[in-house]
Amino acid sequence: MKWHGPLRAKVIWISTMRVCVLGAGVIGLTTAWELAERGYDVTILERRREPAAEASFANGAQLSYAFVAPLACPETLHKLPALMLAAGAPIRIRPTYDPEFIRWGLRFLSACNDRMVTETTRAQLALSALSRSVMADLVEGEELSFGLRTVGKIVLHRSRRSFDAGRLQVERQARLQGSSNQQVLTPSQCLELEPALNLSSDEIAGAIYTPSEQVGDCRLFCQELALRLQQRSNVLWALGTHVRRLITRDNRVCAIETSQGVFDTNLVVLTLGAAAAQFARKSGFRLPVYPMKGYSITARFAHKAASLRHSVTDFEQKIVYAPLKENREEVARVAGIADLVGFDGAIDRRRLAGMTRQAAKLLNLDLESDVRPWAGLRPATPDSRPIIGWSPIRNLFLNTGHGALGWTLACGSARQTVQMITGEQLSVNPGWFALERSA
Ligand SMILES: Cc1cc2nc3c(=O)[nH]c(=O)nc-3n(C[C@H](O)[C@H](O)[C@H](O)COP(=O)(O)OP(=O)(O)OC[C@H]3O[C@@H](n4cnc5c(N)ncnc54)[C@H](O)[C@@H]3O)c2cc1C
Repeated sequence: MKWHGPLRAKVIWISTMRVCVLGAGVIGLTTAWELAERGYDVTILERRREPAAEASFANGAQLSYAFVAPLACPETLHKLPALMLAAGAPIRIRPTYDPEFIRWGLRFLSACNDRMVTETTRAQLALSALSRSVMADLVEGEELSFGLRTVGKIVLHRSRRSFDAGRLQVERQARLQGSSNQQVLTPSQCLELEPALNLSSDEIAGAIYTPSEQVGDCRLFCQELALRLQQRSNVLWALGTHVRRLITRDNRVCAIETSQGVFDTNLVVLTLGAAAAQFARKSGFRLPVYPMKGYSITARFAHKAASLRHSVTDFEQKIVYAPLKENREEVARVAGIADLVGFDGAIDRRRLAGMTRQAAKLLNLDLESDVRPWAGLRPATPDSRPIIGWSPIRNLFLNTGHGALGWTLACGSARQTVQMITGEQLSVNPGWFALERSA
């Protein structure tokens, strides 16, 4: 699929082709890969001692190419007070006078309308289709092994209202794509399809099933890709390197000041995840990216209990369940919660316990031994779309703000980034993801 719109990518001519990628999460690694493949000399600067140590570490494991609807929608607006106030609510907001958060919140509220939901769905579907095909080529070409499986995804709706909204979204996507492989299931069809669910048919209103959805371990994917990057002569690693600031001249970055010294560069790609906005502010411009904290646990199934066959989303609880294989054993990755509590990445035991309780109701999990808890900060934008495009600084490119879909959209975002940098024909309309959106 190619996009033939009026906007063309800005072409940057680089004499030495030295590019610095800031951050080695899934977005930085896929970007570095695409750049290295085109022959650029790439330096990866990462503050942690290993790649994928932050948001890409133990996420929900879903390659959720068909479930791209934004969090900002009329339904969320309607439920927001209940979502925030109920004990164990899936969303929590810590009140703050932080102007960045207030600005972000106002943009979020103004995105809660049908027109924006349609625009975002259209944009995300295009990017996720690109991602899927780039990922498939990468997996095959490089023989990456990270537990990738096409298991299909079931989205459970507990209330009639939510189910109706889910069906409307299926129709919207079918209209936008011209076809659909999503199926609407009755409660009994859903429970027949996924016997591991501890539910009776009167506890759900219905479900949406997409057979083509995939799961896998994002951290393993990152490690595999990092290994391939280490084998390349045109990639330099600077792990344990904290990027402090950009050194600019005539509105161009000429060098980067870090904890390990100064790196010269011709071109910079910013892939700093949840830290992107703070870094942008230091560099003199604003990014609408705010940390949205989420949690996961990885647990075994109880002895003799049925393990999960599909990936499952409990829509109203905002919890996702993925079947993963670890050392030939089936485990469940359970992820959820969306807390706007600033940059505090610590595990709040009560929040984790609430999610774990919900998980234990839905699946027969062994919660007595070897449960691995984790928390990470999603780099969230108000409209849920990533920012892929040029910054106000001439040779600084942005690929960040992927929110709840960073792994799903990583390969497509990296391809779009490199197409824009090199001036190739673009696969996706760049206006949809520009810092100043045209939508
Ligand atoms: C609970 C949870 C569940 C999720 N589930 C899914 C899912 O099922 N499917 C999906 O597609 N997505 C999911 N996501 C979203 C996805 O994990 C993220 O969108 C993605 O990991 C973001 O990648 P990133 O590379 O932008 O950020 P990160 O992985 O956070 O990478 C940014 C990197 O920048 C580095 N960095 C920051 N500041 C500096 C600095 N000053 N100097 C040097 N380095 C710096 C950090 O150390 C980090 O390594 C989930 C997220 C969470 C939290």
